[in-house]
Amino acid sequence: MRNFTLGLLCILLSLGTTHAQRTLLHCGNLLDVNKGEMRPEMTVIVEKNKITAVEKGYAQAKSGDKVVDLKKSYVLPGLIDMHVHLESETRRGGAYDRYTQNPPDVAFQAAKYAKTTLMAGFTTVRDLGGSGVNVALRNAINKGIVDGPRIFTAGKTIATTGGHADPTNGYRRDLMGDPGPLEGVINGVDDARKAVRQRYKDGSDLIKITATGGVLSNAKDGQGPQFTEEEVKAIVETAKDYGFTVAAHAHGAEGMKRAIRGGVQTIEHGTLMDDETIELFKQYGTYYVPTIIAGRTAADSARIMGYYPPLVTPKALAIGPKIQATFAKAYKAGVNIAFGTDAGVYPHGYNAKEFEYMVEGGMPAAEAIRSATVTNAMLLGMSDSLGSLEINKLADLVAVEANPLQNVKTLQNVTFVMKDGVIYKNKN
Ligand SMILES: [Zn+2]
Repeated sequence: MRNFTLGLLCILLSLGTTHAQRTLLHCGNLLDVNKGEMRPEMTVIVEKNKITAVEKGYAQAKSGDKVVDLKKSYVLPGLIDMHVHLESETRRGGAYDRYTQNPPDVAFQAAKYAKTTLMAGFTTVRDLGGSGVNVALRNAINKGIVDGPRIFTAGKTIATTGGHADPTNGYRRDLMGDPGPLEGVINGVDDARKAVRQRYKDGSDLIKITATGGVLSNAKDGQGPQFTEEEVKAIVETAKDYGFTVAAHAHGAEGMKRAIRGGVQTIEHGTLMDDETIELFKQYGTYYVPTIIAGRTAADSARIMGYYPPLVTPKALAIGPKIQATFAKAYKAGVNIAFGTDAGVYPHGYNAKEFEYMVEGGMPAAEAIRSATVTNAMLLGMSDSLGSLEINKLADLVAVEANPLQNVKTLQNVTFVMKDGVIYKNKN
């Protein structure tokens, strides 16, 4: 009986493979993202969720094949954003939402922002902090319940008492309490280890820390160090036990230096990095995630009366506008750059505007696109399946109407999105 069942299963499985529908994408131009070159008239063949062939010319369809005509388009790998917050989105007075919203409210809006992000051509994102709803969102997307990008999430960010991402900053004292490692607030190396292990238990994919003060927290300081180097090291060491990388938010130089020496993988924002910090980046091979668009948007929003709480406005005005110049300096100095935008600090879906700002900052379009594909796939440990359009990789592709190597703004108008072999958008 058992053999019979196994035999039947084998027959069914083989029937399944012979009849798997192939999708032939006829691409007018296909970006070889490693070389930074367009290859004219190519076919990408997709079966289930994988690329099974990349061929020159427009391959003939066999019976049962589905053909997608992208002959007038430029096709490139699905874009990856290393810094988003899918749970929330900036708006005037939005700082007070945390006093009124329940987790289900957050979940419904997060589902909307996830879909917006996917439709903008970002097929993979790293969510760098929320309440933990971002873990449930990742799971719902993976199950096909909600449309959205492939998510790698930090869950709840780790902070220190009163630091950027302490969830009770600015509360009345009797409500403030003393949140601990469970809520991602640590003091000392034991707390640091416990907070990482809690993130593992919660289902996070990686760790985010706030190495310095930040702009949008309801607290005075936007740049001073907020972790000791020992705390950073304890977090990084414990993270390694679980296969986690560590991303560090940092504006001021001292906190950035401690984070780099502590072994974090990426520095987010990096606003006030000095020459010594730049040297440390290069020495440790740390990646810089600029988030230029977030800095610019926060500074613009701060000029609107009542947009942010009174403690936030001066920080947004002082720090926001500086990031683009920091990016230009870091790029020129040879710091490793990873594409990331801090989506949520600006409205979701405009992620690709960052490419325009990177090119303005002196980075060629081909390199900016590489940072959002090959580089980010590598940092996520996904080089075998994401980042370029090659055989056996996951079928994550986007298309645009113009050549992004010549006109990078075209990435702001993605006309076609495929993730995991499923077409989510096709305006062709
Ligand atoms: Zn952020």
